Amino acid sequence: MVRYGELSTKGKNKRNFIDRLGTNVRNSLRGFDDLVVKANRDRMHINLNGDDSELVMQRLSQVFGIQNFSPAIRVEQDLDAVKETAVAMVSEQFVKGTTFKVNTRRSDHDFELDTNEMNDELGGWILDHVPGITVKMKQPDIILRVEVRANGIFLSSETRQGAGGLPVGTAGKGMLMLSGGIDSPVAGYLGMKRGVSMEMVHFFSPPYTSEQALAKAKELTVKLTPYVGTIQFIEVPFTEIQEQIKHDVPEPYLMTITRRFMLRLTEKIAELRGGLAIFNGESLGQVASQTLESMVAINDVTTMPIIRPVVSMDKNEIIDVAKKIDTFDLSIKPFEDCCTIFAPPAPKTKPRLDRSREFEARLDIDGLIERALAGVKVTKIHIGEEYLNENSSLFAELL
Ligand code: ATP
Ligand code: MG
Repeated sequence: MVRYGELSTKGKNKRNFIDRLGTNVRNSLRGFDDLVVKANRDRMHINLNGDDSELVMQRLSQVFGIQNFSPAIRVEQDLDAVKETAVAMVSEQFVKGTTFKVNTRRSDHDFELDTNEMNDELGGWILDHVPGITVKMKQPDIILRVEVRANGIFLSSETRQGAGGLPVGTAGKGMLMLSGGIDSPVAGYLGMKRGVSMEMVHFFSPPYTSEQALAKAKELTVKLTPYVGTIQFIEVPFTEIQEQIKHDVPEPYLMTITRRFMLRLTEKIAELRGGLAIFNGESLGQVASQTLESMVAINDVTTMPIIRPVVSMDKNEIIDVAKKIDTFDLSIKPFEDCCTIFAPPAPKTKPRLDRSREFEARLDIDGLIERALAGVKVTKIHIGEEYLNENSSLFAELL
């Protein structure tokens, strides 16, 4: 039994939210062939039909838009059946000193007992049949929730925390600029948490960057798939642009101009694919290119909203999230991406907008953009896929 979070406040859109959540849950439970997902107005019910509840709950705990959920057992509307199941469930969790209470809700008012009678009847029965257990009204160890519905009586005694947030896909599409670093996967996760369906845009510069660096970005994408099922990964060849910039732009402005090109390309890709905003992993003051002055000089090339979910987080806070979503270990693997390799020793921390425009004008902007776009490749990434193989990473370490 799945309880919705903020969804319940979404008024007229509620149906859309629930339908989307239903689809996302079905996607994330792909591979469990027997279960049936029913997304109703107030609750979602997943009938396991024999599928493994622990594995299903693991997946569920990562789907955004779920406040919490409970493994539940359905029995017929028959008091004896309810009693027997209740004792079995409570006994399973019982250790010395355990306290409990029964909490009944009734949507089927034709049932023979009302909620108080049901609480008393079941509570008494459990006291008599689970030796040593006691009743406690405030904060008991076990709350046995009983829901009397027309289609049966549902019992649950455990509530697990969901991922919160909003169902991915209910807030439109965004393009995440995904590097191989720590910050951008976290930014992607946070955007998805608020319902944005995210496509990954990754710039790579062969032969300066290795196949492994590209594979790493794909593997980071895999880490984000449990929240949605599948993610589109868009790789953009960036070699020519970086070579041109290196050749024509004074060193202190390399980084700024490089970022301007990345943004232009990401905007173009967004327009082609129905994206409404650009997300990135910039955090204020973290590195030279992440000052407000720098943002002014870079943002200049687009009017599309640029959302920076980690902008005000400290590195340690970002790392905590990265560990939680299991991207950290991967992010710190040493495969250089295109920016590290072309990074100048002393990038300007306060680049000027007019100078940025001036230096950039030395380049064939349209031609460079057009050729990079022509080389874009899109891959659909699924849960559980592997792109980095252990042998080649070992090989890289030996080198
Ligand atoms: P990250 O940990 O996400 O790499 P960072 O602190 O290393 O961030 P930068 O390398 O300055 O910061 O990059 C800032 C942002 O620009 C990144 O968070 C990411 O969104 C984007 N970016 C950097 N390199 C790439 C790349 N190769 N492809 C796509 N986006 C990139
Ligand atoms: Mg980086």
